[in-house]
Amino acid sequence: MKKVKTDVVIVGAGPTGLMAANQLNRYKIDYVCLEKQTHRSSFSKAMGIHARSMEMFDLSGFVEEFVARGYPGEGAKMYIGGEKESILGLYQIESRFPYMLVIPQTETEEILETNLEMNEGIVNRGEEVTALTVHDKGVNVTVNNDGEILEYDAEYVLACDGAHSKVRELMETGFVGEAEGKTFFLGDIQTSNLDPSMITGYINTRGATVFFPYADGKFRVVGLDLSIQGRPHKDELTLHELQQRVNYVTSTSIEIDSANWLTYFGTAHKQVENYQKDRVFFVGDAAHIHNPLGGQGMNLGLQDATNICWKLMTVLKGCADQAILRTYDQERRPIAKNIIQQTSRLLQFISLEGTRGKLRNNISRWLLSNSHLQHNIAETLSHIKYDYHATSSSQKLVDNKLPKKFIQPGARTPDVKFLLEETPDKRLYHLLRLYPFVCFVYMERQTEDIIAYVNSLVEELCTVYGDLITTFLVVKGGVPLIEGGKFKIIHDVFREVENKLTMNHGHTMLIRPDAHVAFHTSESDPLETIKRMNIFFKVKHQRGR
Ligand SMILES: Cc1cc2nc3c(=O)[nH]c(=O)nc-3n(C[C@H](O)[C@H](O)[C@H](O)COP(=O)(O)OP(=O)(O)OC[C@H]3O[C@@H](n4cnc5c(N)ncnc54)[C@H](O)[C@@H]3O)c2cc1C
Repeated sequence: MKKVKTDVVIVGAGPTGLMAANQLNRYKIDYVCLEKQTHRSSFSKAMGIHARSMEMFDLSGFVEEFVARGYPGEGAKMYIGGEKESILGLYQIESRFPYMLVIPQTETEEILETNLEMNEGIVNRGEEVTALTVHDKGVNVTVNNDGEILEYDAEYVLACDGAHSKVRELMETGFVGEAEGKTFFLGDIQTSNLDPSMITGYINTRGATVFFPYADGKFRVVGLDLSIQGRPHKDELTLHELQQRVNYVTSTSIEIDSANWLTYFGTAHKQVENYQKDRVFFVGDAAHIHNPLGGQGMNLGLQDATNICWKLMTVLKGCADQAILRTYDQERRPIAKNIIQQTSRLLQFISLEGTRGKLRNNISRWLLSNSHLQHNIAETLSHIKYDYHATSSSQKLVDNKLPKKFIQPGARTPDVKFLLEETPDKRLYHLLRLYPFVCFVYMERQTEDIIAYVNSLVEELCTVYGDLITTFLVVKGGVPLIEGGKFKIIHDVFREVENKLTMNHGHTMLIRPDAHVAFHTSESDPLETIKRMNIFFKVKHQRGR
């Protein structure tokens, strides 16, 4: 039997596995990505990519291809219980991507796999994982490739093998939750009766339907017809039946000219109780599933993959202790749990009929007319709102001298703009494409002690963490006279580092590869800062490894 040694085995090349492969490839970690299918699927379940996932693509250096190929859905035109439209806008969120990018999942997977191949990464297609054994130093993964048996010996395994995860079964890990007992209809259709510039939705006492425009005259329609619930489940849906469902729910004449994927589907919400078991991590649908309201499942998986991969990178490069890997579960599981609760409640809400349904319509219209609530809905849907501040790891890094108005550990860092080396509008996310961890020290006015602090911090960091962390001195105004500095200088000419990252004179901030704050401190003592770094990376030594 052929045996191969590697650092990480990724099981599954759906969107989650492909995102993970791209991350590990970018970090130059040795990995294999195993996919049982010989070709990519031609069916697209997910259609929407939200702002925070777009930001993850931006950090990874391939968002441009998504923007070029997708359609920016800036909001939805909603008909709630009548003919008067309400607008749900996404454009008010603070992100470079204030919209939901509508793009079929097949194209998302194609872009991710093509980018991987362009960077000399590959997916091992036709390799199905059939067995798995965890031992003290790693995991043995057995694969069947068209009758030939192979074995991979890996340090860690990422189970990205979807809702029916084989790895989850082999690891005897429960998937806790239940079916929701509702049947949705879905079709990829062609029609000329809908506005192609907006997502269009209907909610009323007969059910709910949403149309997502994704190509010339083509729409994805997903809906719930309350009059057919409770019947025995079937998958087959004909064009005639779809037209009936659409007519019934919308009460309008949206004529469907043709369709190329028609199906009924049921939904369930389930989650594993811990995203880590020994050296195996559950990522994407292998860790959580919920109904498709708000189009969030794939987005969660893309962000899960980004989160676990940089942590694996720090451990495999010898810069962090394995304990940092536990923060993957601490950070990602509560977010999916929250989305499971949200989408289940939303499903109950849109399923209300009769008087309660009419009340729901009035409440929803009022909610959508309130700009504060709209903003809140947009931030939640786009995943911009989620942070990791409440975890015990973030709490240990809080600087009690910094009041709450300053950005705290775990917060998402906005993509601030500044001037760096003659580039007038460099962005933080550009830096994070180049350097995994970025450390900013802020200097409002030139003071020798800050310059001495940065110089010795750079030296200490280099000794302890090699090239993992790149330090920048961020200056506000003027041209500092710095001789022999061991760091690059950023000019905060737009005042965005000061105002959006809330950095003041003498502050230090470590920013993670996924654009969250590792810590923010007002101290400017290199040994204290290194101590915080060691807490963050869960290492026990003080200096010199
Ligand atoms: C109707 C519908 C609409 C949806 N719309 C949206 C939306 O708009 N937005 C959104 O974010 N999400 C949406 N989702 C959810 C989204 O499709 C999933 O969350 C997403 O596909 C999960 O990706 P994944 O990579 O984790 O799993 P999968 O896509 O299931 O990929 C798993 C991969 O693992 C492979 N595999 C399985 N077992 C093995 C094995 N033993 N060995 C090797 N390979 C294996 C499979 O072949 C597959 O390629 C929707 C879902 C449905 C059903």
